[in-house]
Amino acid sequence: MWMKDIADYLWVVISAMIVFLMQPGFMALETGLTRAKNSINVAIKNMSDFILSVAAFWFVGFGLMFGESFHGIVGSSDYFVNFEQDDWKAAFFLFQVVFAGTAATIDSGAVAERAKFSTYLLMSFITSAFIYPIFGHWAWGGYFYADNAGWLQQLGFLDFAGSTVVHSIGAWVGLSGVIIIGPRLGRFGKDGKANKIRGHNLVFAYFGVFILFFAWFGFNAGSTLAATTKIADIIANTLISASFGGLTGLFVSWKFSKNQLPEPESIINGILGGLVGITAGCYYVSEVGALVIGIVSGLVVYFGTLLLEKLKLDDVVGAIPVHGFAGVWGTIATGIFIQESYLLEFGMTRSNQIMIQILGVTAAFVWSFGVSFILMTIINKFFPMRVSSSYEEIGLNIAEHGASTSIFELSNSVRNIIEHKNFKNAEKIEVEFGTEIGELTDYFNSMVNDLKEKEEMAEEALQSLHHMAVTDGLTQILNRKNVTDALEKEINIAINYEKKLSILLFDIDFFKKVNDQFGHLAGDQVLVDIVKNVSNTIRKTDYFGRYGGEEFLVIMPKTDLETAYIFANMIREKIEKMIWDFSKGYTITVSGGVVENAGEDLNKMISRADSLLYCAKEKGRNKIVK
Ligand code: GH3
Ligand code: MG
Ligand code: MG
Repeated sequence: MWMKDIADYLWVVISAMIVFLMQPGFMALETGLTRAKNSINVAIKNMSDFILSVAAFWFVGFGLMFGESFHGIVGSSDYFVNFEQDDWKAAFFLFQVVFAGTAATIDSGAVAERAKFSTYLLMSFITSAFIYPIFGHWAWGGYFYADNAGWLQQLGFLDFAGSTVVHSIGAWVGLSGVIIIGPRLGRFGKDGKANKIRGHNLVFAYFGVFILFFAWFGFNAGSTLAATTKIADIIANTLISASFGGLTGLFVSWKFSKNQLPEPESIINGILGGLVGITAGCYYVSEVGALVIGIVSGLVVYFGTLLLEKLKLDDVVGAIPVHGFAGVWGTIATGIFIQESYLLEFGMTRSNQIMIQILGVTAAFVWSFGVSFILMTIINKFFPMRVSSSYEEIGLNIAEHGASTSIFELSNSVRNIIEHKNFKNAEKIEVEFGTEIGELTDYFNSMVNDLKEKEEMAEEALQSLHHMAVTDGLTQILNRKNVTDALEKEINIAINYEKKLSILLFDIDFFKKVNDQFGHLAGDQVLVDIVKNVSNTIRKTDYFGRYGGEEFLVIMPKTDLETAYIFANMIREKIEKMIWDFSKGYTITVSGGVVENAGEDLNKMISRADSLLYCAKEKGRNKIVK
């Protein structure tokens, strides 16, 4: 066991806490670079894979990585890590578990927006429980127990903080996922051309990279596992490489990108490439070495991204170029730029060191890509790792977590309104308080509300217009136009189907007198009351309309002349018996003509009824003539 003093404890535990920040850093980066409809899913994946990798690493990962070595291939003790009476083990575990979490989270960005949550979790578990720790043992197995080095470490492989051990391993698992799960819908057109799918919040992605930038200082300098003065040098190298990587991304995209503008994604991925690149050699190289590593990392990431696009591999956030390609470069570059003094210390020639570095990155690729590819192929057979295309379209926030966002609901609601062309079914959207989108939602809700009210008012107005057009204002029965339309229809039916059809045209007798004697209002009341009375008398199939001032038409389908005549007299008698409020003893009568259709048209039929009505008047009124 190494002897550690208090400063070492402090430094390692504080570094572990700083490295923990890589988790929110990746979360912000990945959610920012994905579409809003998947943002919650990406965040949940980032959180879940971390807590899951803590569990996996504690169960078996730590033991496989740092336990007593079985022939330099795998650790064979310290499963279910026990910290009793071993505080250093706790400190060491803390630092290593956040590394395992980092390795496990890298692939989430690559396969974002279409990988199923459940199978993603399974892959994260396998990565942090087996894939990462076993390679970790090969390269770092001697970091906890002395004389416990894995086979790569014994050969002199150098990967100070894990360009390969952590970053490439995570990226190669991501590469398997990208190949097996396939590109997002619409990422590559039918003609094979790549379509850019923009992330929804680049500011958030930038924020994530600031956090990662900072967390990387702990990642690299904490890997000393001791409080030494060397940490300053390591952090300076990290800073230089990251900055030159970012500058390279900035200028290269400015010069070579389609729009010849400094691309936002190229700048941050250049920085991340520089960070990954320097991770292996941060301890061993000079600041000039760091600078060159940073610049080349930036180039590797930029052109690596284009290469993936050419190969039709859809890596949403560029995790494979950043962590995989730049990791390979940084690890080999450690052999190229390692300072002479260290070569002497390790008893190595430069070319030897470079060869061993190449061997290490190759072993990492074969192991992590090979194992993850085989495992994912099997898993994918039984539990498809990709969500259905309808899930992919509505987005994983809703499909996988039932979650939603205001912006999504808002756009959905707008689409519904446009598709259905009405506001009636537009639902009120939950307002997200205190955000710009919340404010917009609020305005939208009240706008929809106004329009809904206006639509209802317009509908009511339309209904009453229709009512006014077909009914008589005073008596609320069919008006002249409508009652004659109905008669025309019934005449057609009667002629075509050889059915009987009769009508009664009646007129109130001496109605002028009622007006003159009792006033116009009383006259109106007479009209209304007679209509009520007749309406209650006629059958459901009959029509009743106001033909003129005090003239009314009753249409009686399927009724012959005799029946109609009896019916007309019934109406006449009922009216005669009515009692009037304005004068109890007063009697109002009607006269009418009844005709049965004899194959004639509307006008002829009505004029025949009209002549009979005149006959009835002439014969002394209060009569029906047929
Ligand atoms: P007749 O027995 O010959 O039919 O005599 P009449 O008085 O009923 O005939 P006339 O055609 O001379 O008068 C009809 C009256 O009906 C004239 C008009 O003022 C009245 N009238 C028409 N429409 C309305 C109405 O909506 N309200 C009221 N109060 N009176 C109306
Ligand atoms: Mg009259
Ligand atoms: Mg009249």
